[in-house]
Amino acid sequence: MATTIEADVVVIGAGITAAMFVERLAETTDATIIVVEGGDRIFNLDDRFAERERFLNYRENPWPNDHIDGQTADGILSRSMSVGGLAMHWGGVTPRFSPEDFHLNSLYGVGYDWPLTYDELDPFYQEAEERMGVAGEQGPAEYDRRAKDYPLPPTPLSYNLTRLKGWAEKSGIPFWQTPAAKLSEPYRGRNVCMRCDTCNICPTGAKYSPDFSFINLLDAGRIDLHSRRLVRKLVLQADSDGVEYAVALDRDNPEEEIHYRASTFVVAAGYCWSPHLLLNSANSRYPDGLANRSGNVGKYMTGHRGINRFVEVPEKLYPGVYTEQSLLSKRFQAKEGDQYIRHDMRIWESDFARRAQLTDSEGKLMLGDAILDEWRERSATGVAHLRSYYDVIPAKESSLTLSSTDTNPWGDPLPVIRFVDSDWTRDLLDDTKASIRSKFDEIIAAGGGRSLAEREYPTHDHPCGGCRMGADPATSVVDPFGRTHDHQNLWIVGTPTLVSAGCNNGTLTFSALALRSAAALTDELPA
Ligand SMILES: Cc1cc2nc3c(=O)[nH]c(=O)nc-3n(C[C@H](O)[C@H](O)[C@H](O)COP(=O)(O)OP(=O)(O)OC[C@H]3O[C@@H](n4cnc5c(N)ncnc54)[C@H](O)[C@@H]3O)c2cc1C
Ligand code: SF4
Repeated sequence: MATTIEADVVVIGAGITAAMFVERLAETTDATIIVVEGGDRIFNLDDRFAERERFLNYRENPWPNDHIDGQTADGILSRSMSVGGLAMHWGGVTPRFSPEDFHLNSLYGVGYDWPLTYDELDPFYQEAEERMGVAGEQGPAEYDRRAKDYPLPPTPLSYNLTRLKGWAEKSGIPFWQTPAAKLSEPYRGRNVCMRCDTCNICPTGAKYSPDFSFINLLDAGRIDLHSRRLVRKLVLQADSDGVEYAVALDRDNPEEEIHYRASTFVVAAGYCWSPHLLLNSANSRYPDGLANRSGNVGKYMTGHRGINRFVEVPEKLYPGVYTEQSLLSKRFQAKEGDQYIRHDMRIWESDFARRAQLTDSEGKLMLGDAILDEWRERSATGVAHLRSYYDVIPAKESSLTLSSTDTNPWGDPLPVIRFVDSDWTRDLLDDTKASIRSKFDEIIAAGGGRSLAEREYPTHDHPCGGCRMGADPATSVVDPFGRTHDHQNLWIVGTPTLVSAGCNNGTLTFSALALRSAAALTDELPA
């Protein structure tokens, strides 16, 4: 016997994209909304200080129980599954994509155009920034286009970054403060950032995390939130292609099936678990998975890779003071010259080679004052951490498939993710890396200093794709607003719908897209 639960809208997943989507829908409609989340409710404002203390003292994960035992994917970047999703851990950094990101093919003959423009997304970027409370500094208009000001003024730059800005800008490359969902002023009941540098778990609430939205919506009685309920598949109506119900298991009582019935189903389960759910929902009419007539579910998985450089700079800095703050330049995300080379550029103060140590440069043990003397001498100059994420053009073969061998504890096949470079990416890789290195060298040549180390960033950061959007049902999974081409009442929102991953942190873009989907759905729901 299955238990049946009904609502107007059932949202699957309770990460940041779901938080944005549901917040808007709850404000603009009277629809009944249930959010179904496989992970636990790990948020508890009263526990934050104690968890943070253990994180500081012992480097313990400040979010215990943030995963589901046995629910993982080969190739996944992070296993975090809980109410709030990955953004319980996030750094809160919120740059927008640049206008070029939406027209890569038209502009450069490389990659794919999106079915929407930057200017169409701009109001939803603004809305996401307002909901999260983003503090930012307006960069030069040609590299940092926006219709309205940031909701909050920038947080004052730390002393270290003020010095590093002066150092880096001797190269003629403009840098400005990286925007972040961390409050520079008290805002909507949340506290101002105290620069305490433990942003993995923020003690003041200055950093936005999705639990704030869910707590507000629960307090207002506007949603139901069913945690520890993992949705296993979507079942179609017998006489149409609409979804009739979602089958979930209660992790506290796995024997009992729960059927969620709704007029609209919204999958907001992130880049990995959204395509996974569609593939696991295969039936005789859709043997390759739901929404997959085009064969594009689980395809075009993408993200961006990067290069890090640690540079000794001729500046006296104070290592470890508000290291989460950073500078940004979007100059190389705009079109320069004919060749397609795009990357961002960030700068942090770093304690690389600047930590106190017990041995000298020859490995000999030091005692007493020698430790302090050696440290003082070594930290007479500071270290800058430069990083550029570069574009990885998605390939259809870059995919998520179902494992033929591995299942979760309830017998469902687990995902396998394999990122594969497209020919475009392969052809451009050497020139892209050389260009990034030459920009790093330019900064060092102009400002002084020397390279200490370089590290490539091999994983695909801010992963996305897998259910890409498009106007053509033959080449995409969802329409430009997130509705699946194949099922009238099934929407996929945010992260999996991206056409390409840009070359900077993606979560603000994932969230803006989710808000745009909510706006499109609003007219169909009870007002
Ligand atoms: C340490 C860290 C730092 C980061 N810092 C930044 C940053 O500074 N800036 C930035 O832009 N990005 C950052 N990110 C990335 C960012 O956190 C993610 O891009 C974002 O949170 C993704 O949100 P989402 O809603 O798409 O997915 P998720 O957060 O993965 O949420 C999806 C939710 O759906 C649930 N779910 C999945 N399948 C099912 C199912 N079948 N049934 C029920 N529930 C299900 C999951 O449990 C999960 O809670 C960071 C990530 C990490 C780990
Ligand atoms: S620096 Fe401290 S107060 Fe500011 S966002 Fe990070 S954890 Fe919160």
